[in-house]
Amino acid sequence: MPIIKTDAYILRLTPYSNTSMAFSALSSNGALVRALARGIRRCPRKGFEGSLDLLSRGEIVYYPRAHGGLALLKEWAEDEHQGEVGGREGGLEALSCLAEMAENLAAEEQPCPGLFEALEEAVRGLRGGGPAGGIILRFLFKGLAAFGEGPEIWRCVRCGRRQPEEPSVASGTAPRPLGRGERPGIGAAAWRRPVRFSAGEGGIICGICAAAEAPAHGSDRGFDIGRGTLEALRGLLSDSPSGGLVLWRPLRPHAQQLARLLTAVARHAFGAELRTLAAARGAVVADGIEPDAC
Ligand SMILES: [Zn+2]
Repeated sequence: MPIIKTDAYILRLTPYSNTSMAFSALSSNGALVRALARGIRRCPRKGFEGSLDLLSRGEIVYYPRAHGGLALLKEWAEDEHQGEVGGREGGLEALSCLAEMAENLAAEEQPCPGLFEALEEAVRGLRGGGPAGGIILRFLFKGLAAFGEGPEIWRCVRCGRRQPEEPSVASGTAPRPLGRGERPGIGAAAWRRPVRFSAGEGGIICGICAAAEAPAHGSDRGFDIGRGTLEALRGLLSDSPSGGLVLWRPLRPHAQQLARLLTAVARHAFGAELRTLAAARGAVVADGIEPDAC
């Protein structure tokens, strides 16, 4: 087996015997690596530089699948330690959320372009003192999108209608020209009614489809989300220079709905309940601004 060298983020660490550590890491190609760092708890250890910690970033050199399914770590050089983030209030929880989501998203020997970059962006956001809830929510969507599984938030998942764009003073964007087969009247009406979000159906459901739905449509009927909530989410997920975390200033009620949405998306995507889900939800709610504070 050829030896492999890659940049990686450490996602999880488990003590292994008295002197070793088993760990999982996200490599720069987006694949998961499970490895054994033999003797790393005995110090000093030749070949291992810096500490091996939660979301430490560094270069790993390893023999794949050398030790009963686990790769064997030969060298580790830490470039970036997240001690400062971990020391802040809620910082360790935010790091744990990102790491657990990344570990659940990634698969061994399956590269996923974009996943490492999404994690890198999230960790940088935390290092820069960014809002933890927005960072976690954006990472979840970006991570799923890297696998082509990001929930649809721009058009109705049932009828395919897009919300007609309205000129916005804040963003200064021009109305989007109507697409083929789109009629302005019906399109606008569909979005004036409450919009629903269903993780099971893969995204938003316009007002007309939600109102017309037969009661026996399955167990995951989703829940209504307000216009402001949808706009806050769209702003957060935008990749425009003024989008993303720059735009993330949700009002408290919107943040609460987005915490519910995050929960629904995570449960649907991962099946099992994430250990850090409550912390992720709490971080999103905590980013909310009281309506009378603006
Ligand atoms: Zn629809």
